[in-house]
Amino acid sequence: MAVQRIGVVGLGIMGAGIAEVWARSGYPVVAVAESAEAVEMGRAKFVASVQRSVAKGRINQSAADDINAAVTWSQDFADLHDCDLVIEAAPEFMALKHQIFTELDRQVKPSGILATNTSSLSVTDIATATNRRDRVVGMHFFNPAPVQKFVEVISTADSNPGVVAEVAQLAESVGKYVARLTDAPGFIVNHLLLAYINHAVTLLDEGIATREEIDTAMRTRASYPMGPLELADLIGLDTCVEILKTIHASMGSARFAPAAGMVELLAQGHKGRKSAQGFYDYAGKHVPVESTNPDVEARIYEELESAYLADARAMRDSGYASELDIDNGMKLGCGLPEGPFEVMASRGTS
Ligand code: NAD
Repeated sequence: MAVQRIGVVGLGIMGAGIAEVWARSGYPVVAVAESAEAVEMGRAKFVASVQRSVAKGRINQSAADDINAAVTWSQDFADLHDCDLVIEAAPEFMALKHQIFTELDRQVKPSGILATNTSSLSVTDIATATNRRDRVVGMHFFNPAPVQKFVEVISTADSNPGVVAEVAQLAESVGKYVARLTDAPGFIVNHLLLAYINHAVTLLDEGIATREEIDTAMRTRASYPMGPLELADLIGLDTCVEILKTIHASMGSARFAPAAGMVELLAQGHKGRKSAQGFYDYAGKHVPVESTNPDVEARIYEELESAYLADARAMRDSGYASELDIDNGMKLGCGLPEGPFEVMASRGTS
């Protein structure tokens, strides 16, 4: 049976964006959060985003009205009963995901598919909170969900292949590039990205380069939209450390042990942009400062990029993901100008 009605649980930056993806494509959406305040905050984010599209001339007011009217806002999980697919986007804590999936299993009709937008937690573990493990998948969108064209669809050993195919086709039908993956720590993008960010913090911790040298190296030499420390501040140091801890606990590799500099900033309450202080100060407008130390920049670029390319190669060689999926993940999920295999191909290496 085709998916006709979609539920979203958790209406933060991701949930509000995911609701917008479906409402824009004409699906009726039921959007749920845990309190009236949380629902209102989610609704305000959603409406503001749709209105920005009107202001930019991408859609007219009548289309915006239709998108707004497609969503039913609620704090009652029972309103999700008739949804064919419910996507959870609540905070990244296993105990909370378990609690929500137990409730979803109770409230959503038995034929409903339950998906989690988790960045790094085990989908297999989340599914254990339900009596329908065959109908639980990961559906990992990127921020902002209406803009980023990449989605990781994650199956567990218990997922019904027909359910996985249906979810993947649904995402493709709204213009997303889908990578079909099995459940593994960090999937494609967070696995590669967090290792790279963590490596950059380690170089800072060891005094090998300043924050400006590290970020300038990757902005100017790799043409990345921002440097790794700026990116950590944007993602949130709390989120980075949580993802690293999850991957580290599962893989044991030192590359994922959260770097001391990031853990210390977090202990001082500095979470990056969201708390106006991270590796940089965001009290005013953040203007990236260029370093003027080409020798150090060259070394940093060489070290960070070669380790990242080696990680990508190892992922491909493990059979986890194809070169195309990895390249598209890094381009369409995090805005890098080229995928790692495109970089290697242009240099005649692989
Ligand atoms: P967020 O903190 O901005 O939003 C979380 C939302 O969940 C809030 O609306 C909150 O009120 C709601 N919530 C809390 N407890 C709830 C409950 N018991 N029931 C229902 N709703 C509840 O978080 P976010 O950044 O949107 O991330 C959500 C999920 O998406 C996480 O699993 C995260 O790892 C994942 N994710 C985040 C990003 C990102 O860039 N922020 C990208 C991809 C995936």
